[in-house]
Amino acid sequence: MKNGRRDFLKLSALSAALFSFNKSKAVNLLTLGGPTVKPVVLSTWNFGIQANAEAWKVLSANGRALDAVEQGVKVPEADPKERSVGLGGRPDRDGRVTLDACIMDEFANIGSVACLEHIVHPISVARAVMEKTPHVMLTGEGALQFALSQGFKKETLLTPESEAEWREWLRKSEYKPIINIENHDTIGMVALDAHGNLSGACTTSGMAFKMHGRIGDSPIIGAGLYVDNEVGAAAATGHGEEVIRIAGSHTVVEYMRHGYSPSEACRKAVERIIKMRKGKDLKDIQVGFIAINKKGEHGAYCLQKGFNYAVYSPVIPNQLFEAKSIL
Ligand code: ASP
Repeated sequence: MKNGRRDFLKLSALSAALFSFNKSKAVNLLTLGGPTVKPVVLSTWNFGIQANAEAWKVLSANGRALDAVEQGVKVPEADPKERSVGLGGRPDRDGRVTLDACIMDEFANIGSVACLEHIVHPISVARAVMEKTPHVMLTGEGALQFALSQGFKKETLLTPESEAEWREWLRKSEYKPIINIENHDTIGMVALDAHGNLSGACTTSGMAFKMHGRIGDSPIIGAGLYVDNEVGAAAATGHGEEVIRIAGSHTVVEYMRHGYSPSEACRKAVERIIKMRKGKDLKDIQVGFIAINKKGEHGAYCLQKGFNYAVYSPVIPNQLFEAKSIL
C-alpha cells in the first residue's frame, strides 16, 4: 500500500474513533503526532463554517493557502447579516464603520489596512498593499485612496440594522464590550495547503462603538495574525488591546517553534495574558487563539467559555469545535 493511502486510512480510522468518542478530546488526540494532514483550514467562530467551505474550494483544487484564506474570509466580509466584519459591521461611536484586516503568506510577505472605510473587502486591499506597494500597512484616508486607485468600489457599509443599534447605543453612550457577541467577532483564518505551505488572514469591523480611529489587533501582524512557514500559523479574536499587549499570534507561533502543540501554544498565550494582567478583573474580557502547525495539527484556546472555531481537513468535514477555556 502506498504511504499516502496508508496514512489516510490510519487517519480515517483514528478520526472515526475520535468522533464517536468526544468532539473536544478529538482535537487533543489529533495533535499527538502521526502523518501530516493537508490541506487544512481553520477559522474563528461559527461563521468559520461558511468561510472554510469557500477556502476549501481553493485548497481541494491544489490551490495556494494564500488564495484560500482570502477567498474564505471574503464570505463574512460581504454578508450584511454578519455584524462584526465588513459590510454591515457595527460602527464606531461616531457611526462610522471602520475596518481592520491583514494577510500573510508563506514567504513572510505581509499586508494590512486599518481604519479603512467604505470598502467591502478590506482583506483584498490588504493583499494589494502586500503585492503592489513598498509598504506593509496603510490606514484611514490613505488606505481608502489606495483602494480606490486599485479599482475597489466605494460603498456604504452602515446597514439600517447597524445604524439602529448605534442610535440605541447613543442613548447611554456606554462603551462596554460584550464578550462572544452572537458568537462571531473577527474572522481569523489559517490554512495549510496541499503543497505544505501556510498562510493566514484576519478581518474585522473591530470592537463595536470604539473611539473613532481605534485600531485593534486584527490588522497588526504578530498580534491578530502570524505565519511562519517553517513552524505554523496563528490568529486571534477578542479584545484586541489584550492581544496586542502580548503580541498574541506571534507568541503562539513561538510556542509552537519550541515544541508545543497548537492547542498548548494557544493555552500558553492565554496564560501569558492572565499573568500580564495580574490583579485585573478579566471577567468582561475574551481572547481566543487558533493555531495550525506544519504537520496540519491544529488547536485553539480561549480565556472565557464560548469561543468556537471551525476546522476543515481530509478527516474533519468542516466542523465546529468549542475551544477549551482557562477561566
Ligand atoms: N479583535 C477585534 C478587535 O479588537 C475584535 C474581536 O475579535 O472581537 O478589534
